[in-house]
Amino acid sequence: MFDTLTESFKNAIGKIRFHDDEKALSRAIDELKKSLLKSDVHHKIVKTLLANIEAKTKHLGVGKDNFLKALQEEINTLLTVSGKQGFVFASKPPTVVLMTGLQGSGKTTTTGKLAYFLKEQKKKKVLIVAADLQRLAAVEQLRQITANIGVELVADESAKPVDIVKLGLEKANKDLYDVVLIDTAGRLAIDDELMDELFEVKKISNPDEIFYVADAMTGQDAIKTAETFKEKIGISGVILTKFDGDSRGGVALGLSHQVGVPLRFIGMGEKMPDLEQFLPDRITNRLLGAGDIETLAEKTVAAIDAKQAKKFSQKIKKGKFGFNDFLEQVESVKKLGSMKSLVGMIPGMSGIAKQMGDMDLENSGELKMIKAMISSMTPKEREDPELLTNSRKRRIASGAGLDQMQVNRVLKQFGNAAKMAKQLSGKNGMKQMQDMMRQMQGGGGFPNLRK
Ligand code: GDP
Ligand code: MG
Repeated sequence: MFDTLTESFKNAIGKIRFHDDEKALSRAIDELKKSLLKSDVHHKIVKTLLANIEAKTKHLGVGKDNFLKALQEEINTLLTVSGKQGFVFASKPPTVVLMTGLQGSGKTTTTGKLAYFLKEQKKKKVLIVAADLQRLAAVEQLRQITANIGVELVADESAKPVDIVKLGLEKANKDLYDVVLIDTAGRLAIDDELMDELFEVKKISNPDEIFYVADAMTGQDAIKTAETFKEKIGISGVILTKFDGDSRGGVALGLSHQVGVPLRFIGMGEKMPDLEQFLPDRITNRLLGAGDIETLAEKTVAAIDAKQAKKFSQKIKKGKFGFNDFLEQVESVKKLGSMKSLVGMIPGMSGIAKQMGDMDLENSGELKMIKAMISSMTPKEREDPELLTNSRKRRIASGAGLDQMQVNRVLKQFGNAAKMAKQLSGKNGMKQMQDMMRQMQGGGGFPNLRK
């Protein structure tokens, strides 16, 4: 997805070998600067991002772990702007979505992809409205797409956009649809007539979301037009299409920040399943080469003995997964081999594994911290994290030689992971387990295996 950028992050991380080697840090920053600019990330974004990464690394203490941490946090911050993430349903159905953008950007295709995503993954009842009546071929294109994916279409070549939208919304309300996607007309460039038409459609449909569909191949221009659409009609999200054809990938990095509206989805090909949610945590992991860890998840499941796994899964289901269980889990993960070999199984990470040297789970800073915390807990607290009131947390922090913020962070991560595990337990095991592993590998998860 971000091969070139991932490669250069990998190289930059590889430059830092020793502690306190500030020269190596500045070489790493230089390397990043070159490749970010080459990948078409806006120069101002590059400047701020790198200044923040450098400052944070120095603040934490120059070293590979801290550099990686700074990278991860700063990229995540860059990708995150206030607003919704992924697809968000309105509190009262139907959720009405207006698809806007220039001609050829991929609006119609993306409308189909979104409908497919909502139908297949979210099990929703979706209605598409063909409000691009500029070209008759556009309606025909939607007929074919909706027939293929089995989604209902409201279309009438002889109607006006506003009328067809009215008709669509009436149908959606009457027949209890969950989502209405309105495909609108584009132009080769922004003009007043287009904006007027969009404005009328917006007024009549009162949408929950206005997505701006932008072609990644147009680079920084995609961002400029998104800004114009934001100004003129207001947008709540951007979808970047044709990302499969953009070998640079940098537009996706700065877009949310530059436009001030979150990037919500990325189009990765011409087919209906080729649409991915743009979730900052996961994207950060991919950028840093964490990739897909399905194999790792399978191996993990295989390594945990069945009896123990059953015991854990029952505890998870009851929400009774405690710190002792966690330590036992760590022991079984250790049975899998060194961190280095585990990381090597992750697609795209073999290079990093080579550079990681002998970094292992046992000696990771995060795990040491958690172990210190656990050893400061009473047996009851170890069994039941819910017991941890503020005064107990303070006691644990001072006992473990940590500050309270660190303790709170670890407990929060632990709580999130336990909650997630509980939610995921039960339903079709493997698939859910894999998703969970992916999340745990990611920013909000616990433990952070990458460290
Ligand atoms: P619209 O004019 O904005 O409605 O654009 P269309 O949906 O008709 O798409 C224009 C062209 O871009 C079509 O040939 C699509 O197949 C193609 N397209 C759309 N999204 C993607 C994508 O994510 N990747 C690739 N490779 N092609 C895409
Ligand atoms: Mg179209």
